[in-house]
Amino acid sequence: MSGWFSQNRARNLLALLVLLAVAAFLAFGPTQTVLDKATRYLITRKDVILSEHTAISVFGMAVVLGLEVVFLGWRQSSLYRLLHPTHSTVVDIVCYLLALCGLSGVGILIFSLGLADLVIKLVDPWLPHGLLAVKNPLLQLVWFLVAVDFVKYWIHFLQHKWKAWWELHKFHHAAEEFNAITTARDHPTDDATLAVALLIPLALLGGTADQFLLLSVLLAMHSGLTHSMLPWNFGWLGRWVLVSPITHRIHHSDLPEQFDKNFGMIFIIWDRIFGTYYDGNLINPTVNVADNPYNRHNIVWDYLECPKRFLLALVGRKPAVPPAE
Ligand SMILES: [Zn+2]
Ligand SMILES: [Zn+2]
Repeated sequence: MSGWFSQNRARNLLALLVLLAVAAFLAFGPTQTVLDKATRYLITRKDVILSEHTAISVFGMAVVLGLEVVFLGWRQSSLYRLLHPTHSTVVDIVCYLLALCGLSGVGILIFSLGLADLVIKLVDPWLPHGLLAVKNPLLQLVWFLVAVDFVKYWIHFLQHKWKAWWELHKFHHAAEEFNAITTARDHPTDDATLAVALLIPLALLGGTADQFLLLSVLLAMHSGLTHSMLPWNFGWLGRWVLVSPITHRIHHSDLPEQFDKNFGMIFIIWDRIFGTYYDGNLINPTVNVADNPYNRHNIVWDYLECPKRFLLALVGRKPAVPPAE
């Protein structure tokens, strides 16, 4: 076609009209309510980003990052790795930022197809909230910490032993280096199953430990420490009471003799009682997981691969391991 109205111009005009129609649809059509809701939701995230919880998390991490620079030196520190990120660290950064921005809930909603939220919404009103709570606030705090950690020990055990759940938890173990914020590296589908698994215990135990500011700071620091490369074992305390950085690094080891050891999150005593404590002398210099399918494509691939592998494992099929590059 010759003249002003050439084929190219016709195509461009058509594209422009389609764009205008889409814009008009978005602005005035039935999606307006959805957009309105989404915008309002994102605006309310401002409160989450500037919340006390975020400040505590950032402060706890900052202390750990500082400690690493002092004790390990700049080139060995997490801060150096965060500023020179590998693919593995980029995933950690994205997970941490999503959590800081209060978008973990959105991730759970999307990657569980709304099922986790639905289960919680249906079951929660029927639960006897605070049935196992203790009146004294200090006792309640200790009771809550110990009881939740005990439940988390068994959930963590299941995350490793149940093949399908392992495919979700493997996303956390796919970290090829520790940088303190690796603690936030969890797939939203894993978080969704965790939220459902913790629903009944948390309801029965009543009030959480969140009200105790100092404890929240210590817990944020502890989770950062256990995902740092600080060579600390906490001595006697680390052998019998608290999970130390070395203890959790061993949990992330890809050495066969250290596999499925040290499931404890805060307290190591559960591993002592139930025989999963690693009492050898070897300390793994690196962290990784055998047959790691992640950190070789882009982050979207990683995020989609995880629930795919979970579904395959659920129906008894073994997900393929991509060839090493
Ligand atoms: Zn684990
Ligand atoms: Zn971990």
